Amino acid sequence: MSEKTEHESQDNRSAGTPRLRAALESVPSYKPGRPAAAGGPVSYKLSSNENPYPPLPGVLESVTEAAASFNRYPDLACSALLAELAERFDVPVSHLASGTGSVGIAQQLIQSTAGPGDEVIYAWRSFEAYPIITRISGATAVEVPLTAAEEHDLDAMADAITERTRLIFVCNPNNPTGVAIPREELERFLDRVPADVLVVLDEAYREFVRDERVADGIDIYRDRPNVCVLRTFSKAYGLAGLRVGFAVAHEPVAAALRKTAVPFGVSQLAQDAAVASLRSEAALLERVGALVEERTRVGRELRAQGWTVPESQANFVWLRLGERTSAFAEAAEAAGVTVRGFAGEGVRVSIGETAANDIFVQVAAGFRKEM
Ligand SMILES: *Cc1c(COP(=O)(O)O)cnc(C)c1O
Repeated sequence: MSEKTEHESQDNRSAGTPRLRAALESVPSYKPGRPAAAGGPVSYKLSSNENPYPPLPGVLESVTEAAASFNRYPDLACSALLAELAERFDVPVSHLASGTGSVGIAQQLIQSTAGPGDEVIYAWRSFEAYPIITRISGATAVEVPLTAAEEHDLDAMADAITERTRLIFVCNPNNPTGVAIPREELERFLDRVPADVLVVLDEAYREFVRDERVADGIDIYRDRPNVCVLRTFSKAYGLAGLRVGFAVAHEPVAAALRKTAVPFGVSQLAQDAAVASLRSEAALLERVGALVEERTRVGRELRAQGWTVPESQANFVWLRLGERTSAFAEAAEAAGVTVRGFAGEGVRVSIGETAANDIFVQVAAGFRKEM
């Protein structure tokens, strides 16, 4: 190469932009639920499945106290939290890992198992983070449509497994449809999954499950080394803004999670709040009970209006509205509640304050009459 062309090629390099991985081009962006409308009359946010109750006094106190030392890094190993979880769920500490929300852990699980050429299976529609974190890794997303009853099609998901499958997400209960999988069906599916494929049971809404046929993933994981259970403090425990979740899995999966964790990702505020929440569990679960009652009431009223509402085991309900989805979301917002619309598919509406749920039920009634 002559000196001149060498210079030219250097010029070309400096004129370019940083080279980004081609995999990023297909990554959809995460759409957060719309905030409650500002200004206007009272407005409620029913778009992100958050807990509508403010923090319990004891939990708030622990966070305020921890705030006094946020000039220091947090405990890297989250020791106090993991010790508390080990006791609460009767699992060894070595089977636990915490992370920046369960979404953070889900991303670490993909990072640990899959890359370009590998496949990740999940139901669709399901949690919108799955396609994002799968595509970031460069792995191929294999999306298996829900059944007409809004359930995971576990037979089709098992049929979709290939030599290249590395990880399967099972969202139980499913976000956004709310439908949960009975134990027998889940076990039959797990029996069909090869031992070298990781199955991630995403149980973000576990505390809201009341159907006794639905298994607790932590019971299921015990004698299944390829099962990892994800739980979060964001929903029932009301810590969405602090970003802390955890996984229960055998070695070496739990060890992989410790390796792939962003150092100091879980703040001391989040760790202390999670510990305080576990210690205040009775009070928190009482609130969860009230939300479950509201879920039952909302479902009953919607069905009385003539809607088909899948049986939700989570803190939200799903209305499949197809083309009318956006119109419904707009009508709800105009009435004072923001909901999560998935254009062309349906709306997911969180169970919130009673007054907010009432507004939603009224909007649904009005909409029904126009149909
Ligand atoms: C809300 C939610 C999570 C929790 O996310 P965090 O990162 O823990 O806040 C995980 N999975 C599903 C299916 C969810 O709906």
